[in-house]
Amino acid sequence: ENGALKDIISHAKEYGFVYPSSEIYDGLQAVYDYGAYGVELKKNLKDVWWQSMTRLNSNVVGIDASIFMHPTTWKASGHVDSFNDPMIDNKDSNKRYRADVLVEEFAAKLEEEGKAEEAKALEQELGRLLEAEDLEAVRQLIIDKEIVCPISGTCNWTEVRQFNLMFSTQIGSVADDSSTVYLRPETAQGIFVNFLNVQKTARMKVPFGIAQIGKAFRNEIVARQFIFRMREFEQMEMQFFVRPGEEMEWYEKWKESRMKWHKVLGVPQDRLRFHDHEKLAHYANAAADIEYKFPFGFKEVEGIHSRTDFDLTQHQEFSRKKQQYFDTEINKNYIPYVVETSIGADRLFLMTMFNAFTEEMVGEGEKAKKRTFLKFHPALAPVKAAIFPLTKKDGLPDVAKEIFNDLKYDFNLVYEEQQSIGKRYTRQDLIGTPFCIAVDHQTLEDKTVTIRHRDSMEQERVAIADLRKVIGEAVSI
Ligand code: ATP
Repeated sequence: ENGALKDIISHAKEYGFVYPSSEIYDGLQAVYDYGAYGVELKKNLKDVWWQSMTRLNSNVVGIDASIFMHPTTWKASGHVDSFNDPMIDNKDSNKRYRADVLVEEFAAKLEEEGKAEEAKALEQELGRLLEAEDLEAVRQLIIDKEIVCPISGTCNWTEVRQFNLMFSTQIGSVADDSSTVYLRPETAQGIFVNFLNVQKTARMKVPFGIAQIGKAFRNEIVARQFIFRMREFEQMEMQFFVRPGEEMEWYEKWKESRMKWHKVLGVPQDRLRFHDHEKLAHYANAAADIEYKFPFGFKEVEGIHSRTDFDLTQHQEFSRKKQQYFDTEINKNYIPYVVETSIGADRLFLMTMFNAFTEEMVGEGEKAKKRTFLKFHPALAPVKAAIFPLTKKDGLPDVAKEIFNDLKYDFNLVYEEQQSIGKRYTRQDLIGTPFCIAVDHQTLEDKTVTIRHRDSMEQERVAIADLRKVIGEAVSI
């Protein structure tokens, strides 16, 4: 079993991965900062995603759109009118909840108890009520099912209200309604409004995709579970434009390709699953989540959505600018359909931490000790290799620094000469460094070093001249 949420939170803080934002002021709810190793891990995750999207697929290119967009964008996309979550308060504890999440969690519990039919019926009922915007009936459902507040244990609920998740602010120095802008709640719209710019200037032909990594902001009603649900987070989205009628084929392809990606990065099959959506968003004709088995249950990490021509059609209507593409192969003008893959970099980070966190007993009998290490895929590890002179004497540090300087252009390394070698190994285990390279007296004679492997703790002698190759092969995917 992997660690519990509290183990991950404290490990992440103690070893330089994630801290609460502005912690000296007691933090800001659902906002977090990444530390020295966290920033490297997150950057590696983003790089691997970016490369697999844009380099492995010659028909996918990237963009970097701004966070602020013309406010009409969010009218057209439907966010101003309907990017809402239903909220409800418990009158006894004064705690606020998402009404839909209360019901979904109750359904998940039913499923665990083997009442899958009942759970499914409940989810469908919830979907119907939300679609009809019958908030009073949602409240009644919560009361009928006797869903209680986990804090007060009572069922004394307020009415359900819709709450819009977009943050707004004013642009320019005059504050009036016309100057209201939003912090984008998703990166996708930056891609849609640039669809024709990119298609023309990068000379793309349907089918093609546009990928983007960037910040998104949502004023989440309940922000729990660490970086699983944040108010400021980063998304990695790819919108794939296809011929109308071919979207299902591409939807299946991207589902499969994205699932494979997670497995290649070392997530075991039994911790991943698809969850096909029963209730679809207004813009979608098919949707599935890739879920990971967190200690708090199977939860969405990534969404794959067939968004039809909804977004481009809306933008065409609101901007009065044609969003059509002329397909020379079939001699037809059309608004392309879109298949999207959307994953949160932070949620992926959390999954990666859980998946890597490993505790095992080493040694026998009374000498047995617990060893904690982060078993990252070497491609994701914040530090690829640590270089240690065995002692500070006899010129060993000079040789170690020489190795460091030779390899630092290719890999993120650390050099460490303080403390015993055992302590230095432990420290690297805790941040998930796959290789520790020790320079000892034999090195002076035969130009070899010891490589100590993180997962097996095995050591082997390797020629200095081979280090680049050994590390290079391990960190490539
Ligand atoms: P949820 O149901 O968990 O609120 P969602 O279905 O609204 O998520 P999408 O709008 O599909 O999520 O966003 C795509 C991805 O962005 C999600 O799969 C998730 O990885 C990430 N994401 C969404 N909201 C947040 C958040 N508040 N904090 C961190 N990551 C998020």
